[in-house]
Amino acid sequence: MDVTSSDVAIIGGGVAGLYSAYCCNTVGLSHVLFEALPYVGGQCTALYPDKPIYGVPGMHKALAKDFIANLSNQCSPQQMYLNTSVSVSKHDNVFQLTTNNNQQFMAKYLIIASGIGIMEPSLPIGIKGAVELANTSDFVQCYCLNPELYKDKEVVIAGGGNSAADHALCISKVAKHVTLLHKRDKLRCDKNKLDELNKNEFNNIQFKLEQEILELQPGVIITNKESINADRIVFCYGLHVNQNSINNISVLNLKMERNLIKCELPTMKTSENHCYAVGDIVSYPSKKKGILSCCYEAQMAVNDIALEREN
Ligand SMILES: Cc1cc2nc3c(=O)[nH]c(=O)nc-3n(C[C@H](O)[C@H](O)[C@H](O)COP(=O)(O)OP(=O)(O)OC[C@H]3O[C@@H](n4cnc5c(N)ncnc54)[C@H](O)[C@@H]3O)c2cc1C
Repeated sequence: MDVTSSDVAIIGGGVAGLYSAYCCNTVGLSHVLFEALPYVGGQCTALYPDKPIYGVPGMHKALAKDFIANLSNQCSPQQMYLNTSVSVSKHDNVFQLTTNNNQQFMAKYLIIASGIGIMEPSLPIGIKGAVELANTSDFVQCYCLNPELYKDKEVVIAGGGNSAADHALCISKVAKHVTLLHKRDKLRCDKNKLDELNKNEFNNIQFKLEQEILELQPGVIITNKESINADRIVFCYGLHVNQNSINNISVLNLKMERNLIKCELPTMKTSENHCYAVGDIVSYPSKKKGILSCCYEAQMAVNDIALEREN
């Protein structure tokens, strides 16, 4: 059987994995990148392609899909396999990667950039009628910002975190009216997003708090307090993660903390020799998830590999 060798194998084609490939290019490390989904960009592409990204220098109000298009042009991994998930083992200090279609790869170093796993938006399974309507109509959406779906519509956003706030702000630009519906008495989003929501630039956002959704019927949302008529409901209820992807990697000697891989700063080394982790899969004191951290961590990991190779 043919086995392809490279200096570095990268698991995951989200921001952290793509930028790791870019950094490998800059220091002349050969590398291969595996992505389980049919496209790169991870969460940016899967969950919020039409949302502006925040907190990235020089990318003021760039849409996530445009940012990822630029990033993947900039990064050009030497070898990239989409639709390909991998499991990992280690023999004689070399990582052996086996793909879902049984191809074999070897690498001296491993960078795990698997984010929170192979993610899909969570469907609201506890709500009567929700799954059926999600599968059969445009009324129920999960983490979707396609402007065409909301133009001049009555839209309800369900959820109270940053992604619900982001969706409300984005959709309010095209919708007739947006209702942000949350079961607690306060939203959990960052203060700057709350300020923007309160400013309500398009004068069409309304909050309904302490309301729990019990049932959906076509065009109707039934809560514990009232029935709300709407054209669309968008659930921002978090992500469903395919845990298998993490389990396949966790066969290595990785110290974990709440399902995240513990890393040393500033090298991003894990407890497994020659194995690094970057991006949302990582845990260290004061870790903040976000695009900027992904790029910083990728840079630090690849620097360390380049230094080790020289010594
Ligand atoms: C709604 C929302 C809005 C956000 N807005 C912002 C923002 O404005 N600014 C900001 O800085 N951050 C934002 N973030 C956070 C930011 O998107 C993440 O921090 C970043 O995308 C994480 O990138 P990553 O590469 O670590 O992981 P991910 O994007 O999760 O990518 C990991 C990739 O690895 C793949 N994978 C996993 N396991 C395997 C395997 N075994 N084999 C092959 N492939 C595998 C997955 O399919 C996935 O594509 C937002 C997040 C969300 C959910």
